[in-house]
Amino acid sequence: MDSAQARLLFADQLGPHFDDGGPILLPEVLSPLRRRTYHRQKAHLILSALRHRAHELGERVELLRGDSYHEALSGRSGSVINPTSRGLRSLMADLSKTQPWEILPSRGFVTSEEDFSAWAGRQGSKRLLMENFYRERRVATGVLMTPDASGQKLPEGGKFNFDHENREPPPKGQSTLGVVSPWFPTEDDIDAEVREYLDHLESRGSVRFVGVDGPRLFPATRREALDALEQFVTHRLVTFGPTEDAALQQDWAMSHSLLSPALNLGLLDPWEVIHRVLEAYAQGEVPIASAEGFIRQIMGWRDWVWHLYWHLGEEFAQSNYFSHHEELPESMQNLDPEGVDSVCLSQVLGELRERGWTHHINRLMVIGSFALQRELNPQKLNDWFIDVCVDGTPWVMPANVLGMSQYADGGQVATKPYTSGGAYISKMTDYCTSCPFSPKIRVGEKACHFTAGYWNFLEGHKTSLAGNFRMAQPLAGLGKLKDLPELLAQEQQREGF
Ligand SMILES: Cc1cc2nc3c(=O)[nH]c(=O)nc-3n(C[C@H](O)[C@H](O)[C@H](O)COP(=O)(O)OP(=O)(O)OC[C@H]3O[C@@H](n4cnc5c(N)ncnc54)[C@H](O)[C@@H]3O)c2cc1C
Ligand code: SF4
Repeated sequence: MDSAQARLLFADQLGPHFDDGGPILLPEVLSPLRRRTYHRQKAHLILSALRHRAHELGERVELLRGDSYHEALSGRSGSVINPTSRGLRSLMADLSKTQPWEILPSRGFVTSEEDFSAWAGRQGSKRLLMENFYRERRVATGVLMTPDASGQKLPEGGKFNFDHENREPPPKGQSTLGVVSPWFPTEDDIDAEVREYLDHLESRGSVRFVGVDGPRLFPATRREALDALEQFVTHRLVTFGPTEDAALQQDWAMSHSLLSPALNLGLLDPWEVIHRVLEAYAQGEVPIASAEGFIRQIMGWRDWVWHLYWHLGEEFAQSNYFSHHEELPESMQNLDPEGVDSVCLSQVLGELRERGWTHHINRLMVIGSFALQRELNPQKLNDWFIDVCVDGTPWVMPANVLGMSQYADGGQVATKPYTSGGAYISKMTDYCTSCPFSPKIRVGEKACHFTAGYWNFLEGHKTSLAGNFRMAQPLAGLGKLKDLPELLAQEQQREGF
């Protein structure tokens, strides 16, 4: 590559692994902020990261300000690492009609697009499963693999998957996990400038935000991202595995890494995260269940949803298997925890309002499950997640939201709908202990809307679900409910949650 050729970097390509030397073009454009209703802290984080990168690059960078990418990049040429969204790839195709742009293979993921396509091709007519993809990548890369006496590589600890040891309920009698706090940044002058700029845009009415402004909580620079990684691996990874799926009202971060914003901004390369975890494991600092559980998230899940974004095609975004068309309730649109009575929903909406971040089980088994039961439109939900999560991106959502959480693809991504009654939430969290509803009650004033909603969902979709063997047992249970008519009438009239 010609090192004098300018490299265009988008706002999610901010780490050194996107920079091969030479001049840099960094566009900062307003139209994405005007088109959508982002969480205030998401807008802040993106702008702060972009401006910090421009500051670090000094004379090598040209910061291109404009209303749209077309405007900012008009007449420019150079190279670009293939961007992460369909929108930006079609922008580059468009710009290439008038100016020469060299489009390089994508970076920022563990497996290349070529290797994924080759793997998918080898599956033939077999269903594509994350677990099979992940195991193949472990073997291909040698990550957490050890040779036996004959030289055959075997998974470290005797198996590929330690989910069975993980996924514990929260420890009894504790309101927090009691682990060392996550790493948090100290804001600087660039953050102050960004805050002033966003205040100005908001007061002029050019943009509208949701959620509260607050101190920046996630890394905006490479240095900060490395510090956050170090704090996680040294102090918090050890308890990551067992508590991966648990939630406590007083502990919003639990043992999660909070690294998704830094990874999705491109400040960290997933490979360096994996290598740091392997190092901690090799030094005996973390057990295999936590090391494997975490590496599975990065090398497995994160890459999986990225590759599915491309592999499943553009029409996947329109999937709506159950024909769900309900609007998102105002409490969700406004991130208003006061707008609901149930503790679980209120907790998660409150976390999103305060920080633009909530952990996986809250996204999947509280918001996602609620949306499925209440027949919210999957496309609107997908866009809502992109807007309100600081780590939300176009590529991360379709497989997670349409596939995994809404089963809107009819089962291409998940083998069954992820929804449950209150019993699951009660087992994995402490939310139900202070809720006005009871997870065990399905009809009446104290009925938990997740418990009633679960049966209501099954009844409403039993024909579509009948062919799914994983749903046979729940559907059989539905037939045994004596109070089903009252439950269905109650859910039909339900106004609040
Ligand atoms: C409905 C729904 C919405 C989601 N929205 C987002 C989102 O906007 N952005 C996002 O990055 N992730 C999203 N996820 C995946 C996951 O919930 C988040 O990556 C995770 O909660 C981020 O917090 P963390 O960094 O502390 O993760 P940890 O629990 O510490 O996990 C480590 C890392 O693994 C990766 N990871 C784990 N699971 C997934 C997954 N299913 N998809 C992609 N990456 C994964 C992330 O990079 C994460 O940082 C969503 C999942 C669901 C079900
Ligand atoms: S009782 Fe039901 S509504 Fe209340 S916190 Fe538990 S699961 Fe949520």
